[in-house]
Order: sequence, then structure tokens, then C-alpha cells
Amino acid sequence: MDMLIGGKHISSEDLEDVINPYTGEVIDTVPIAHRQTAELAIESANNARESLSEMSAFKVSNNLFNVVLKLKEKRQMFAESLTLEVGKPIIESLLEVDRSIETLKLAAEEAKRIYGESVPLDAGMGGKGFFAFTQKVPLGVVVAITPFNYPLNLTIHKIAPAIACKNTVIVKPPTEAPLTVMKFCELLNEEFPDGVVNVVTGYGSEVGDHLVVSPEVNKISFTGSVTTGLMISQKAGMKKTTLELGGNDPTVILKDADLNNAVKGIVNGAFLNAGQVCMGVKRVIVEDEIADEFAEKLVAATQKLVMGNPLDSKTTLGTLISEKAAIQVEETVNNAVSMGAKILTGGNRDGAFYEATVIDNVTTDMDLILNETFGPVAPIIRVKNVDGAIEVANNTDYGLQAGVFTGDYASAMRCAQEIETGTVFINKQSTFRTDNMPFGGFKNSGVGKEGIKYAVDEMTKTKLIGLNLR
Ligand code: NAD
Repeated sequence: MDMLIGGKHISSEDLEDVINPYTGEVIDTVPIAHRQTAELAIESANNARESLSEMSAFKVSNNLFNVVLKLKEKRQMFAESLTLEVGKPIIESLLEVDRSIETLKLAAEEAKRIYGESVPLDAGMGGKGFFAFTQKVPLGVVVAITPFNYPLNLTIHKIAPAIACKNTVIVKPPTEAPLTVMKFCELLNEEFPDGVVNVVTGYGSEVGDHLVVSPEVNKISFTGSVTTGLMISQKAGMKKTTLELGGNDPTVILKDADLNNAVKGIVNGAFLNAGQVCMGVKRVIVEDEIADEFAEKLVAATQKLVMGNPLDSKTTLGTLISEKAAIQVEETVNNAVSMGAKILTGGNRDGAFYEATVIDNVTTDMDLILNETFGPVAPIIRVKNVDGAIEVANNTDYGLQAGVFTGDYASAMRCAQEIETGTVFINKQSTFRTDNMPFGGFKNSGVGKEGIKYAVDEMTKTKLIGLNLR
């Protein structure tokens, strides 16, 4: 599939295969863009700024709603496309498309709410006689760089609010799974002037890097790993950046929790998308008193997952993004076992599949939980009490989201206030998000917030206009 730049389809002599991780077959190829192509995209995004700024907010909103309708019409095709390139079960891909429709709707609505405010300058010394107000002004060209795990939804989380507040965009989709995003950008391009949305494919280290350093780009909105995020922040200079990075999210189960509810939450949180979720449950912190009973129930529920062909609607556990990724998870789990952890179920790999794995007696010195393990693994860490749970939960450089299961309000409030993450859910696993909420982590998990309204704040600058009426 070709890139989209200034409304034209552009290829390259160098092509990259897009592989179906389930079959190992090549689904399609995409161009490997180099510096010149990135420059062309930057030029076309800059040229399109004027035509976008001339569109009324009413029209921008209306056209985004048209894209909503088109995406709805092609729901099944988009879901299959996601499953083929990511390896996630079709039921999850359908959910990702449905969420994408909602995310897009929120942006279409938000396009009509790009408000400023009046500012009473007379409340400040010497400000008598002024009338002043603020406007939210678009930044210009926004570069959206996105990861493989939720390629469609996470890209829409960037480009839809960017366009809603009249920025033009350049998308650098994930190298492993670019196709669904490219198809979506074609729909957007049908509704907006050429150059409002541009797509360049290829390697982040080359084309992404060039986009990040270019002085003609005004904003980088990045979602991906901490390592890449850190590199981007060092190279972006004075540009605005939003960095949505990795997570090592804890979910705490206290002795008074509803265990069936907690088990349901952990199965969803640890194994959704084969554990490749930034806010996935990466550490299950359980109070000693109930740990045996909880582990037994968790194993039984985990064994009900159906691993198989991701296109089959009965499948609930698909592949990882690649065999290489699965091998990495396998090695991390095996390393934990060699240090004393015990696999209660799972632990086997078959190509890009890794079984849903529950592993007990995990200690805080194991790589499995020191770093983000991006695979279907639920590591159980036993703690004595709520103090121990909070200490373990905070014992990480990450701080995206957290969950706490408890029937006790005092413990719930302590955890909510003392766990250092951007979000804490009570009686819900960490793996929960609605697309209108402010989303973004503390510590190394990121800088800035997404969630359409909050993304608009990050993609505009505030200008004050003051009229001296005296
Ligand atoms: P990644 O960092 O390897 O890649 C993300 C994107 O960055 C890709 O498009 C890649 O091509 C590009 N890239 C790579 N090097 C670059 C460079 N030097 N300059 C510019 N762009 C570059 O991440 P991934 O493996 O695709 O995704 C998994 C990671 O993303 C996990 O850590 C996960 O937790 C995180 N993630 C975070 C969120 C969030 O909202 N916080 C959501 C999903 C995934």
C-alpha cells in the first residue's frame, strides 16, 4: 500500500513487508520512506494549513462525522485488517474499531467547542479599562507517531483532535502494523483538503527521527516505549511534545475484595491483546491471607481462554506481534522461574503464540516485573498488608494506571491517594479507559494527557487579545 502525501499516493524503491504474525505470510508491503519523503510530507502539511484554517468549525465537525459514518460502514473490513497485521482476536479488533468510532465522534463534537475565555484584566494592577479574551490557536503541523498494539484507536486519539482544532497532520504508523491506519487516513483524506492528513511509512529511527527534529513541525504526539519516548524528547527541542509511554501497571487485591470480580478483572487486564497493552495488568499484588484462594481461581479462569486462529470468533487469545516478541516474553518468564518463581498455568510458546501464564512467588528483584513485560503474563506478588501493597505498587519507574480491589473504603482511599499513577481505579483493574477521560501517566510513563478534550489543549496554544477601551 502506498503512502499518502498531499493527497497523492507515493511509493519508494525500498519496500517493507507487513507480516501476519499468525501465518507468517506477507500481507502487503509498504514503502520505506527516507529523508526526502519526510520533507515532502512536511511541506504538504504546511501548505494545507491555510485551507484547513479557512474551514468553519461547523464544517470540520461535519466532515469528521462523515468519516465516522464511513468507518461504521467498513467496520468488519477494518477489524479484519487489524487482526491480520496485529494477530489480535477478531472480537477484540471489532471492539477497537467500535472504540475508534466513538473516539472520532468525540473529536467531531469537540471541534465545535474550541473555546477561549474572557479574562478580567481589571483584577490585576493597572488593568482597569481593558476587555480581554483568550483564543485557542492551532499549533500548525502535528506529527503523530504510534505503536503497534492499538494502531487504529491510538492514531485516531492523535489525528482526530489535531484536525478538530485545525492542525494538519503527518502520521508515522507503526512499522509492524501500518495498513489499517493507512486505510483510515484514506477516509479522512476524502473529507479534507489534500495535505491535511499525510502518511509516511518506514522506520522510526530514520523517517520518524527526521520528522521529530524538523523545525517545520510544531508538535510531536508520540505513543510508544519509554526508550523511544526519551529519545524523542531529547531531539524535539522547543517543540511541544506529548509522550504516552509504557506502563508496569499494578493491580492490588486486598483480603476483603470480591475475589470473583478481581479474577475477572485480572483475566481481562493481563491477557487482553495477549498482554500487549500499555495499561495492562503487569503486576498482580495480592494480600497473603487470600493469595492461595485467589491464585486457584485465577488459574481456573485463565485456562478457559481459547488460543487459536485470530480470525475465528471463538478465539480469545491471539498471537503476539511477532515470534521475536514471544521469545522475549518466554525468556523473561524462564528467567523468573530460575530465580524461584512458579508457573501455575501456561509458560509455553508456539511461534508467535505465548500461552496465558499465571506465575506465583514473584519477587521484586525479577526482571519480569522490574521492566514492562509486553505479553500474556499475570505475575503474582504476595504482600502482608495494605502497606506492603502500596510499597510494591510504587516500586517502579513507571506510573501509568493502577487498580485496587477491596471492600474497605479506608483501604481504597489510601491506595487511591498513595499509589503514584496517573489514574487509580477502585474495584476495577488498571486496564480501563474511556476515550473522554484524561489519560496519561506519572513518572516515566509520560508527559501530557490524551482523551479528546485534553488532547485539544495540548494541540493548541492560548493567545490573549486585550483591548484598551480607555
Ligand atoms: P516503540 O517505541 O518501539 O515504537 C513506537 C513508534 O515509534 C513506532 O511507530 C516506531 O516506528 C516509532 N519510532 C521508533 N524509533 C523512533 C525514533 N527514533 N524516532 C521517532 N519514532 C520512532 O513502541 P512499540 O513497540 O510499537 O509499542 C509498545 C510500547 O508502547 C509499550 O511500551 C507500550 O506500553 C507503549 N504504549 C503506550 C501507550 C500509552 O498510551 N501510554 C499506549 C500503547 C502502547
